[in-house]
Amino acid sequence: MSIAHFHRTTAEALLADGTTVVIRPLGPQDREAVLDLHANRMSDESRRLRFFGVSRNAPRLAADRLCGEPGERLLSLGAWAGEELIGEADCEIPEDRPQTGELALVVADRWQRRGAATLLLEHLIHAARGRGVRVFEADTLAGNRGVHKVFAGLGLPVHRRLDRGEIRVRVPLDESDEHYRAAVDERGRRADVASLGALLRPGSVAVVGVSRRAGSVGRTVLAKIRQGGFPGPVMAVNPRAGSIDGEPVYPSVGALPAVPDLAVLAVPAPAVAGVAEECGRAGVRALVVLASGLGSEDARRLVHACREHSMRLVGPNSLGIAQTDPAVRLDAEFGGAFPLPGTAGVAVQSGGVGIALLKRLAWLGIGVSSFVSLGDKYDVSGNDLLQWWEGDGRTDLALLHLESFGGPRAFARTARRVTRRLPVLTVDAGRSAAGRRGAASHTAAAATPTVVREALFRQAGITATRSIGELVDTAALLHAQPLPDPRGAVAVVSNAGGIGILAADALADAGLILPELSGELEELLPEGAAARNPVDTTAAVGPAKLARLLEKVEQSRAVDALLVCLVPTALATDAAHDPVRALLDGPARRRIPIAAVLPDQEVPVRHLTCADGNRLPVYSDTVAAARALAHARDRARWLAEPVSEDADAPGCDLRTARSLVAGFLAANPAGGWLDPVGTADLLESHGLPLTTSVWARDERTAVIAARAMCRLGHEGAVALKAYWPGQVHKSAAGAVRTGLRTESEVRSAYREFEESFGAELAGAVVQPMAAPGVELLAGVVQDRVFGPLVLLGIGGTATEVLDDRVARLAPLTERDLTTMVADLRGAPLLSGYPGAPGVDLPAVRSVLARLSRLAADVPELVEADLNPVIARPDGAVCVDARVRLEPRPSYDPYLRRLRRPAAAEEG
Ligand code: ADP
Ligand code: MG
Repeated sequence: MSIAHFHRTTAEALLADGTTVVIRPLGPQDREAVLDLHANRMSDESRRLRFFGVSRNAPRLAADRLCGEPGERLLSLGAWAGEELIGEADCEIPEDRPQTGELALVVADRWQRRGAATLLLEHLIHAARGRGVRVFEADTLAGNRGVHKVFAGLGLPVHRRLDRGEIRVRVPLDESDEHYRAAVDERGRRADVASLGALLRPGSVAVVGVSRRAGSVGRTVLAKIRQGGFPGPVMAVNPRAGSIDGEPVYPSVGALPAVPDLAVLAVPAPAVAGVAEECGRAGVRALVVLASGLGSEDARRLVHACREHSMRLVGPNSLGIAQTDPAVRLDAEFGGAFPLPGTAGVAVQSGGVGIALLKRLAWLGIGVSSFVSLGDKYDVSGNDLLQWWEGDGRTDLALLHLESFGGPRAFARTARRVTRRLPVLTVDAGRSAAGRRGAASHTAAAATPTVVREALFRQAGITATRSIGELVDTAALLHAQPLPDPRGAVAVVSNAGGIGILAADALADAGLILPELSGELEELLPEGAAARNPVDTTAAVGPAKLARLLEKVEQSRAVDALLVCLVPTALATDAAHDPVRALLDGPARRRIPIAAVLPDQEVPVRHLTCADGNRLPVYSDTVAAARALAHARDRARWLAEPVSEDADAPGCDLRTARSLVAGFLAANPAGGWLDPVGTADLLESHGLPLTTSVWARDERTAVIAARAMCRLGHEGAVALKAYWPGQVHKSAAGAVRTGLRTESEVRSAYREFEESFGAELAGAVVQPMAAPGVELLAGVVQDRVFGPLVLLGIGGTATEVLDDRVARLAPLTERDLTTMVADLRGAPLLSGYPGAPGVDLPAVRSVLARLSRLAADVPELVEADLNPVIARPDGAVCVDARVRLEPRPSYDPYLRRLRRPAAAEEG
């Protein structure tokens, strides 16, 4: 088995209790294990329920059946915990019913009720769909409650029929079942959280690599854990043993008096893998690895040890973790001070950024629920932490500084769900080409322009800022103030006209609106003051008058947020006359959110505690305040959007697509562009409307095809496109002839191709000429942060000139389909305008939905470019497509599996 194939068919995933298991197809080499499972690790009762009796031969027959040479009619998967086969699920596909899988399922007694059966079933469903199976059927005994519970909990409809003490179960495997996907997501979240418990709520901790030298990393972490007040056992390991500060030091992990839940590895890089293996054997459940610079073999061993022994891993190259929950109080990091307890979850990739961020949050008085320095993210990633915070009962704000989120394919679904519950703020790092150069360890995929990235973050509900400063500014507002109405109308009140104007400009730049206020404020203002918005009170107004004015503005229904800008004036002779008193003596919680700008303050942002005990964010700069308000408005808009279902794409033929891709990659192990025939077949498998395209190897075939295609010489015409392997742009190379009306035109076009391209020419594609319409481009690209994106743009030969395109995270929702079309500058071309009828929008939406489905079904698809799709009032047809495939592990966004870090792939 090649490594690539092994990776495609082997998955590591979590049981409900957080245990890591490996799932892979069974083969002849597994015979002993399968026999043992059936013969020795099931009780008689389990065997009776499985085999409908206690035949002594049953285990051997099962092993024979499951462990033959892999064939077309049987799919069998085993789940392994380390060396132990803990369960098996298989389905046989009867010759006469190729869309049916006859299901069987076994889990060793001591592994039951831990979600192994469900996990095996999910993977079997995935594999079976790939073989074209549409329904599972199983015969079960009525008394087999366990198996009925598993079926009932899957999230798929289950039909039961009782027949003489047996129950015939039918489970249709509907592809687009949102209910099933949501159930899988929820199981994934629970398992993830269960597995992270040992890391973020450990009962005991060991620090490995504690040197005697004061100030060393290991020693510092050990001291911090002890000083932090961790309530459970804290143990130290060093081969030279002895004692430190009167506490014993043990020579190895195996020699510890108790098995720690969490081990912090402060050993040098070359020792990490060995210590990790030792921890795994001892039964440790989670690791934090501080060292950086692991070699590729060490990296592979480290990840392998974690997966084999079911340990979650933070790092390597981590600064550590901190948990402020009073019941845990774990300070296992060597960065700075133990963070203030609170409600902000913080995860950073770079330790330095982490230190800076924690300091600035502490300064603002924003406490932290948990802090994780993720480092090189071999295992635990931003996605994991989002899921943890989603349900930890403490976190109400997530702050991330990451170059990527890990598992980009799962990211879109996770983020969209989590951000409905709590604001997720991130710094969009690595936007520029130079920035990406600095970002560690990735194969830089096509750069996604900043505007597109912003739209993608918005689609996921994530608040993306451009700097740590902006992140903190925004957190200061979201943490202390309610969200505004999605409309985002802001009133500016200042006591100095100039600063009010700057604020108005900044707000407009940030996309907020400043409604003109009617005369209602005039009576409260002195002569010469501006009452409309920005409101200028003039320096003559003291705190009492200002307070009344703020109340009045707050009550105005035209306003959704309030920005108050104050400068000290010569009239404020003492504290009582300081206009800031108007803020301090009033409430910080009002009908609408409020922020202030004090341009003379020394720090960029701080919180003032007002008379009602609530906090008011105060900025030194109008731009910072305006951006924060704009982010709050965007979040309000996101929350106001209805939750949408995944876009529907009925009738996609997964099986054909999969076998096509497998065939291509077998012949082209490094991947590459599909040829015209392969492209047409793949698109057709997913119902994408490629126009009739006939492959002609020579002039004669081209002419026959053209003749068969339309009434040449009458009203019909064809297009002829030369093809050779490695071709890039056809038109530019002179490889496209359109509007050929007669046989002799086709003939001479082909001859010209032969003259121009000589021996390179492999043949040509003949197509009927499509009726003119709006030329669109539609496609899929892979982004290293966001995963697969679906694109839509105004296409044809003017694509580059118009540069009008939108992108969305796949899988697309129904709502995404709507906004994609609407967000194009050229949207009226599609929806119609006076004098133009518009195009068949459902046909365009269908193209996008099918591309989204194709991206999910074929993770090897790195690029698909349909340009143009010609859209007309009566339909949409694609006349040119290019598809590139690359070998890579199959990550279905709906399939539960752990990510495999690039660093651990080699070797
Ligand atoms: P490329 O994009 O590689 O240059 P295309 O196959 O897209 O080549 O052809 C270029 C242009 O020719 C298309 O954008 C479209 O305007 C036109 N064209 C190509 N094939 C057809 C066709 N079958 N019917 C109508 N127009 C076509
Ligand atoms: Mg084209």
